[in-house]
Amino acid sequence: MNNTINYDKVRELHMAVKKQDPSNFIEHVINKDLEENKNDGRVHTRFPPEPNGYIHIGHAKSICLNFGIAENYQGLCNLRFDDTNPSKEDVEYVDSIKEDVRWLGYDWDDRLYYASDYFDRLYDYAGQLIRKGLAYVDDLSPDEIREYRGTLTEPGKESPYRSRSAEENALLFEKMKAGEYKDGSKVLRAKIDMASGNLNMRDPVLYRIQRGTHHRSGDKWCIYPMYDFAHPISDALEGITHSICTLEFEDHRPLYNWIVENIDIEGDSRPKQIEFARLNLSHTVMSKRKLRQLVEEGHVRGWNDPRMPTVSGLRRRGYTPESVKDFCERIGVAKGNSMVDLALLEHCIRQDLNNNAPRVMTVLRPLKIVFENYPEGQVEMLEAENNPEKPETGSRQIPFSKEIYIEKDDFLEEPPKKFFRLAPGREVRLKHAYIIKCKEVIKDEQTGEILELRCTYDPETKSGTNATVRKVKGTLHWVSASHAIDAEVRLYNHLFVKENPEEQGADFKDNLNPDSLEILPACKVESSLKKAAVSSRYQFLRKGYFCVDPDTTEEKLVFNRIVSLKDTWAKLQKNK
Ligand code: ATP
Ligand code: MG
Repeated sequence: MNNTINYDKVRELHMAVKKQDPSNFIEHVINKDLEENKNDGRVHTRFPPEPNGYIHIGHAKSICLNFGIAENYQGLCNLRFDDTNPSKEDVEYVDSIKEDVRWLGYDWDDRLYYASDYFDRLYDYAGQLIRKGLAYVDDLSPDEIREYRGTLTEPGKESPYRSRSAEENALLFEKMKAGEYKDGSKVLRAKIDMASGNLNMRDPVLYRIQRGTHHRSGDKWCIYPMYDFAHPISDALEGITHSICTLEFEDHRPLYNWIVENIDIEGDSRPKQIEFARLNLSHTVMSKRKLRQLVEEGHVRGWNDPRMPTVSGLRRRGYTPESVKDFCERIGVAKGNSMVDLALLEHCIRQDLNNNAPRVMTVLRPLKIVFENYPEGQVEMLEAENNPEKPETGSRQIPFSKEIYIEKDDFLEEPPKKFFRLAPGREVRLKHAYIIKCKEVIKDEQTGEILELRCTYDPETKSGTNATVRKVKGTLHWVSASHAIDAEVRLYNHLFVKENPEEQGADFKDNLNPDSLEILPACKVESSLKKAAVSSRYQFLRKGYFCVDPDTTEEKLVFNRIVSLKDTWAKLQKNK
């Protein structure tokens, strides 16, 4: 990997174009920088995930923001793996992150970087600081370092090792690298100010000794740079102009600037750190560490379980990249932390699929109906529109016959007042078909369970014809019994019962929803779904939006419910 950047070439190729209508405070900052002709008119961002897990919807927000800015300004955005911690990182995660960024529709071209590619240079830059008298090797233990740091109200205490000479420090640092000391026995620290009001400036640790095989550099190193040291240098090396990160790094900004200012880097790049509020989503957790726990302890079926807020989970569930991007745009970019309702994300996919998903009929909990007056063995084909929102998608033919299935809960023997579906002696319309009337209920003699209904159909009431049409209140979906295909349908509910699973210091796992997955193994779906491709999405009439799961085989179709039809977000907005 060649990670030496030719800045002249970059400048030549990429002159940013100022945005006319900045849509958030970050774009205002960038516009101002362009007006002041900073960074030679370049706009260059990066998305810097740590490959220690699969990325989630919060990362998607950061991806949309960073790659989106590059698009809006005709600038560039790098993908950089921030892999400075050998113990938790893995190529599996690197690969999944690349796949997820691509799925969202973004492209880093040839700008794929790894912080670990800079290990040699980072080591040299640390040497620079040592020679300038700005860094020293400290023998205090981690506990002592913490003690010496002081608190928000009390200044810290200087380490007794702080006054070592540059020569001594250089020698010790070299020996640290050579593996002469035990893990944790020494660190390299910046020499800044133990009395600073900002704890991050009280001689922060730059390097630690930590043996462990790194997913790229193997066993070459036993010392690893800290994020606060590696990140600003990686940004500067790549010519990043705007280093966008989440709010918890606000207090680290003076250190970021201190590193950039005190290190002599080729290209003279001066990246600027800008912080925004991270996305918090209701009814879920959003930290790779916690998501990994859910996977490893078997609370979900994997990182891409459709209940997970990971990008791969959303993809498997049936979310489209467009809906995820739409969501990220609607929530905007803010300076204050807040919690976004999951219902908004669901609203976005509903909007997308309302326009784009073909309609089909399926029965999730089947109840058989036999038509007493329909000829044995007869089948007729009826016309069904594919998508009323898009008449140009045309229609298909669906079979009607003597035996059909309807949903169990569309029939009640003793219907309450506002129940307009089927009941003994009542009429309802079958979608795309006829008006039918319930004549008789057949039950299991022992258990009283309803086994099937005997009905009649009225041949004069075929949908779409000019035949005399009576008004009936209910319209039901159905499938022809002998034509329908068996399918398994998986229904998902919130992964956590509480809006904030960690409210009041709760252990998030105590708030897992025991009913987050419901499997319906014996559903009946219309025959047009026979060849439905994995990942294709449909509206099951009256039931919601569904997506074909990769568990589907020749023998068995498997669907995930993406969302139900009930749009709680739209309702909330209306009542405001
Ligand atoms: P996590 O604890 O979930 O792993 P992280 O911040 O440690 O989060 P990184 O891989 O270091 O994860 O993050 C890569 C980028 O994504 C960073 O710039 C980070 O600020 C951003 N990011 C992470 N979580 C969110 C979030 N919830 N909302 C917006 N941006 C986020
Ligand atoms: Mg992190």
